Amino acid sequence: MLDKRKFYINGSWIDPVIKKDFDVINPSNEETYATISLGSIKDVDLAISAAKIAYSKWSQVEKKEKINLLEKLLQIYKNRWDEITQTMSNEMGAPLDWSSSAQTSSGADHINDFILRLKNFEFERKFNKTSNNYIVYEPIGICGLITPWNWPINQITLKVIPALAAGCTMILKPSEIAPLSGMLFADLIHEAGFPPGVFNLINGDGSGVGTDLSTHRHIDMISFTGSTRAGKLISKNAADTIKRVCLELGGKGGNIIFSDSHPKAVREGVRNVMSNSGQSCDAPTRMLVEKSIYKRAVEEAADEANKIKVDIASKKGDHIGPVISETQYNKIIDLINSGIKEGATLVAGGPDKPIGLDKGYFIKPTIFTDVKNEMRIAKEEIFGPVLSIIPFDDEEEAVSIVNDTSYGLGNYVQTQDKEKAKRIARKFRSGGVYINGKSADPGTPFGGYRQSGNGREGGVWGLEEYLEIKTICGWE
Ligand code: NAD
Repeated sequence: MLDKRKFYINGSWIDPVIKKDFDVINPSNEETYATISLGSIKDVDLAISAAKIAYSKWSQVEKKEKINLLEKLLQIYKNRWDEITQTMSNEMGAPLDWSSSAQTSSGADHINDFILRLKNFEFERKFNKTSNNYIVYEPIGICGLITPWNWPINQITLKVIPALAAGCTMILKPSEIAPLSGMLFADLIHEAGFPPGVFNLINGDGSGVGTDLSTHRHIDMISFTGSTRAGKLISKNAADTIKRVCLELGGKGGNIIFSDSHPKAVREGVRNVMSNSGQSCDAPTRMLVEKSIYKRAVEEAADEANKIKVDIASKKGDHIGPVISETQYNKIIDLINSGIKEGATLVAGGPDKPIGLDKGYFIKPTIFTDVKNEMRIAKEEIFGPVLSIIPFDDEEEAVSIVNDTSYGLGNYVQTQDKEKAKRIARKFRSGGVYINGKSADPGTPFGGYRQSGNGREGGVWGLEEYLEIKTICGWE
């Protein structure tokens, strides 16, 4: 078993002030394979004082030096690609091939893109040609970065890299359920040679280190990705110190499929939900199908779900792995049972374990049809391989069902009618819209409307989140 009980503070791995062990479980076999510590306010205070001391120099470092260090980090990341892939596969159950092609590659893409943004970013600009005013962008200060387990390195690089590029110093608290890729990332930062105290890592849970960071008077900003439940608590906890709070929260995406859609639209929609075992915030978990093609769509969706293999994460090949934990497993099964009880029709999967996978948190790709938007399976974020199919008559009804949610992260539409697609894209109340399966380019902003959050990550918007803006009058 791996002993991972130290924290990375001020450039070295040190023991926690107070020891509190926590087991990291491999979701493919339910076995403990590492022990970490859950930190306390004493560890948080140590990390914050290291970050404060480091801030005075790091906030003034030349752009060129930051770019050199980030380029070095990217090279080290690429050199240790397989180790990163394996670590995420063990801790959160991502099948190896997919862990590499989706999870690990997302981290490299973000580092690469933020280097480009930093190169082109003007930290000091004249307000306009005739003005004597200057607009100056400065690092916001000491940041608390809190990340989830479902895309661990993706989320860490979306926060740590722009914070470094802006000139901030930071304390990262990765998810206690999948903390090992974050700890490996701390090793990469160390190897790249970032000055001590610029980046610190403390493990811990939400009620401990998460709350200590959110309430701390010396933390200037919290960037959080995780559940809407925790996002609300963090906002309340941060209110007394008026720190900046950037939230990337849950979702309940809609995917409108019109009768003139691409022939593979339904099958792609199913794959999109089941990928990462349904544990993606922007998954299109409500599929709305025009009534004229409803029967065919239901048959295709069930057929596609039945084709998706479920297996342990360490196996190579194209399959989905387990869900992250016993808690999540029980929550998802409870929601599947609620769908059956509330009268939706189960056409694939269901609450029983897949054959031959009694150990591990495995769930069959599950499809419900004849779903009403008031049912729990259509309202709540399930965060498992479960799709709800809802029939509709016309465009107006479909859009109103999609927008009838407290979330607003990613919505999808499938039609060959380009004008209709654009019209609907404008009507969706969400931070992202995906027409006919097209994906987002590197450097575009990602984030939510309403209870899906209030910030934007990625690209220049992700960099600006870590900056304060100063107006200096009489510069010239
Ligand atoms: P979670 O909210 O339980 O935990 C996320 C992180 O927050 C963990 O590090 C946890 O320790 C910490 N935390 C929990 N309670 C806290 C509190 N009161 N104060 C401070 N920190 C606290 O979420 P999760 O189960 O790890 O992740 C899944 C959730 O993340 C889903 O809702 C998903 O939609 C969301 N998510 C959103 C995005 C996005 O960009 N919008 C991306 C990935 C995941």
